[in-house]
Amino acid sequence: MATNGRILKSGQTAPRSIGRSILLTLPIALWSFLMFSHSLQPGNRSALIACVTTAVFLTALFFMMMRTRSTYRWRRWFFVALGVLFPVGFIHMVMVMRGTMGIPIEEMIAGRTPFCYLPIPLLILPAAFTKALVFPGSILPGGGMSGGGMAAMAGVWLAITLVVGKGWCSYACFFGGIEEGMASIPARAKLRKIDPRWRYGPWAVLLVMVLLSLALFEPAYCMWLCPFKAVSEYVAARNTVGLVQNGIFVVLFAGLVIALPLLTKKRTQCAFFCPFGAFQSIFNKTSVFDVKIDRTLCSPCVLCKTACPTMSLTDESIALGETLMSCMKCGACVDACPKNAAVWHIRGTEIGGNPERARLMFLYAAWGMAIMFGGSIIAQGLATILHVFV
Ligand code: SF4
Ligand code: SF4
Repeated sequence: MATNGRILKSGQTAPRSIGRSILLTLPIALWSFLMFSHSLQPGNRSALIACVTTAVFLTALFFMMMRTRSTYRWRRWFFVALGVLFPVGFIHMVMVMRGTMGIPIEEMIAGRTPFCYLPIPLLILPAAFTKALVFPGSILPGGGMSGGGMAAMAGVWLAITLVVGKGWCSYACFFGGIEEGMASIPARAKLRKIDPRWRYGPWAVLLVMVLLSLALFEPAYCMWLCPFKAVSEYVAARNTVGLVQNGIFVVLFAGLVIALPLLTKKRTQCAFFCPFGAFQSIFNKTSVFDVKIDRTLCSPCVLCKTACPTMSLTDESIALGETLMSCMKCGACVDACPKNAAVWHIRGTEIGGNPERARLMFLYAAWGMAIMFGGSIIAQGLATILHVFV
């Protein structure tokens, strides 16, 4: 059995010492401080408490990941907090901006709505053919599109994506946390047999939505299929079409984000529907980091397959030592493996050579990104709640 000095026996790893865990956490603590010191507004007590709480929360989670050497259960706290607090802060922001969550269709098409990364893959073909963006949205609350801001945001997205690939969907996406929270509630899945062909769902939605966006020259997914419109902003229902659109958003949210995760313990919206997730999978091919199965250690008990929230492991892929392209690097399989055979890995290195080093390097990149994107959203949601009480 390959060991790296930390493995006690099959499936067990020694906790790291507190001192060493603190040392490893220091860069993240500093990064948190840097990020949140920008957001502090003098005289705003709610924002101050929210920023300090968020910085301590995210740093403490990273410390626990260092101390326990497990990833998924600590990351999940962050991700669920992000998913729950995003709508709180967002809804408050749009209510202040417009006084309603309903946005007129013309404003949506004109991009006078806050920036969202989900339509990125839908913009490519219309932009290639007409050199126009059909729905970039604004990254500035209340403002029109900022070209420089958009370019900067796109640059940050690309840089992060090239490093962590589909890890975006476990460390940056502010939509996936609600369903991850729902999937965590039941002790066991009630619905265990899922047709593996559902894995092609996100690719089918992506293809149809890309073509529709090109044909209609509008963000078809945002207009018709995004489940998260139900908890952010929706098409103002001024006629039957608007009512139908909003009905679809609510049904998809209730089904894919609430009911099915409760029944299956899977992130069903991410695994079977999200076109952005499919698009992001492509970048798993360019990412430096991945998760592999060390075939010399694997039994194979398939506990990793059961633990995977996105069905990114199959019997065949385990036998080959691979995860599927849809792997979002959440770490659930690594934490679940009793043989330490599911391992973090840096492309080009020996599988199982030094998986903890690979995990550390991945986590510095992913957690730094989590603090940068998710941290400010968590703080904004917290500040909104605190504003009511403080
Ligand atoms: S990698 Fe998966 S199948 Fe192999 S031992 Fe670990 S949990 Fe079991
Ligand atoms: S294969 Fe492992 S790391 Fe990838 S999504 Fe599934 S559980 Fe998470």
